[in-house]
Amino acid sequence: MDKGRLIIFSAPSGCGKGTMLAEILKDERFRVSVSATTRSPREGEADGVNYHFLTRQQFEEKIENEEFLEYAQYCDNFYGTLNSEVDFYLEKGIDVILEIEVQGAMKVMRKRPDALSIFIAPPSVGELRRRLKKRGTETDEVIEKRVAEAKHELAFAMKYDYVIENDALEVAVDDFFRVIRAEQLRSDRSAERMLQIMMSE
Ligand code: 5GP
Repeated sequence: MDKGRLIIFSAPSGCGKGTMLAEILKDERFRVSVSATTRSPREGEADGVNYHFLTRQQFEEKIENEEFLEYAQYCDNFYGTLNSEVDFYLEKGIDVILEIEVQGAMKVMRKRPDALSIFIAPPSVGELRRRLKKRGTETDEVIEKRVAEAKHELAFAMKYDYVIENDALEVAVDDFFRVIRAEQLRSDRSAERMLQIMMSE
């Protein structure tokens, strides 16, 4: 059985990444890694489902014990990908999506060069701010911090294998599956299939 694929999926906050992921995860070939964070849960978020919510001390202990594939600081909080959320599933042939910001993404690209990386961009900064306000989970000050962070993150888009603009949800989700399909058809992933074809009469 083929191993699963590690997929880095980054998008500035407010790009509609959550809605896109909800659609993608209807397909059972994919799972999203549940990150650890020191940020407080938002209303409706559950521990172990959206994040593993940790205290700063618990997070630091996990750093000490080398439990993270990567971790980064974002808007005053720590976020990190636990090794235990990744390798077990890849071995089972499941594609694991890492929903992470750009600093963490750069670290994973270095550590796991075979990972597929996809950046989700908003149609405009104005639209991004409007979406964040509509969500209503953050104060104006935090929203402006996130907009500034988003502008900074957009500069990293070119480091990713693919960039998908999320203007219309269906189009963006469709683009994601097209990227996955194209990756499956890459010649360097087709050796086993070519052998099967050669042996078949
Ligand atoms: P939020 O607070 O909106 O849930 O997430 C803030 C940012 O942290 C988002 O860009 C999200 O992708 C990123 N993030 C979530 N989990 C991780 C993680 O495990 N590692 C890194 N580097 N970033 C993460």
